[in-house]
Amino acid sequence: MNQIESEGAAEVFSEAGFRIDMSPIAAKDDARQDVCVCILNTCAVTTKAEQKARRTVRLLLKKFPNAILIVTGCYAQLSAKEISEMDKRICVLPGLAKSALGGVPQKIKSALGLRHGALEASDILEGGFDFESSQKSHVAIAPFELLPKTFFSHSRASLKIQDGCDNNCSYCAIHLARGKSVSLDAALALERILDLEREGHNEVVLTGVNVAQYLGKFGEKTLDISGLLELILSRTKKIALRFSSIYPETASARFCDLIKDERVMPHFHLSVQSGSDAILKRMNRRYARQDVIEACRRLGDAKKNPFLACDIIAGFPGETEKDFSDTMDMLESCGFTDVHAFAFSPRRGTDAFSFAPKIPERIKDERVKILNEFSSARKIKYIESFVGNVRPAIAESVHRSQASGGAIPAGKKIMRALTDNFIHAEILLDEKYVTPKEGERVRVKILCAQKEKIIAGQEWEAFGELQ
Ligand code: SF4
Repeated sequence: MNQIESEGAAEVFSEAGFRIDMSPIAAKDDARQDVCVCILNTCAVTTKAEQKARRTVRLLLKKFPNAILIVTGCYAQLSAKEISEMDKRICVLPGLAKSALGGVPQKIKSALGLRHGALEASDILEGGFDFESSQKSHVAIAPFELLPKTFFSHSRASLKIQDGCDNNCSYCAIHLARGKSVSLDAALALERILDLEREGHNEVVLTGVNVAQYLGKFGEKTLDISGLLELILSRTKKIALRFSSIYPETASARFCDLIKDERVMPHFHLSVQSGSDAILKRMNRRYARQDVIEACRRLGDAKKNPFLACDIIAGFPGETEKDFSDTMDMLESCGFTDVHAFAFSPRRGTDAFSFAPKIPERIKDERVKILNEFSSARKIKYIESFVGNVRPAIAESVHRSQASGGAIPAGKKIMRALTDNFIHAEILLDEKYVTPKEGERVRVKILCAQKEKIIAGQEWEAFGELQ
């Protein structure tokens, strides 16, 4: 979600004539005097995400001594004062008012037109953003205004169809930061996807904080997520669809019937968090372990051998050895291929912040390690089950291999491609042939799993060849 919103902000600045650079900043990079504004879209999902945001703020201030720094996103929503006190060059735009970024290029131009020299944070905030109404109603202002049409750093298009969440999971800071659930009108979602299809995009990723809460207007009707999917599939012809994440309750019988369409990619990331009913209850989740098992069975019946991923929180307060082993059993019986494991991080303002008994860090880390090992083993097994198979894929970046080792020697031309079932494959390209363009549809034969990379947690986990 953050990445797509950042793309939206980049597009607004680009259209206003600014030169955009979205490449990552490293501590060793030289300081640059020519940058007038940096925008940092922060996350608050864990304490570590907030620490990283503060580190990045300090780094940006150092590397861009003449720039003002606009800090927005979830951390900016929850800790505006803490961030603005870090430096007078910082301008905090709370996450619920993020769409105000759309007006910033004009403010910068006006300020630079009035006076030569560096910008000041007050140049951005002056002219009255109506932050207060969003804080009172706890609903994002114009949440779909920053929908990008071009993608600076993604080879696949994405569309934000939903934001916020009406649940109150006891550990979650995101619903506090992003406010109540809001949905993009189904008619607008369809229009955007038709545009993407006309522009030649091969795939669009539908994103949201909680797409299970999607309720979008379509004329007189209100469509839920299955209704939206049915509408898109019936009115588009070629474009493939992928969901960035779903909740167990999204995988209803109707949804699973619709995803049998081959344009829905066989890859689903479920927000699961635990396989223990006692812990799910303390987390205030709205499903039980059996619901997750049944959701995965329905997804598996609808798509042949889909890539099923999930998020799990390890070491939630009160999580016993038995609770954790229930989680491991559930992961096994659901056939998950990939587990994103997080150590429980107490978030101020949430119910679970004060829950006891706390699980010692050492035990949390051990449980995360077990989950990561499980995930690597399952991913290797999953990829190996496709060896010799040819999969449709979308071409991503091309680069020269850096060092020998693994399946690819150094100095070779390598293309990366993401298959329909979410296998990130590296492909050795023959110098004689035309290199596929980023975003182009290709066919990839899976040759092997790159085990060392998977175990090291690297993304490009398979080796394949173009067909
Ligand atoms: S469902 Fe729960 S974890 Fe997900 S965003 Fe809503 S409150 Fe947070």
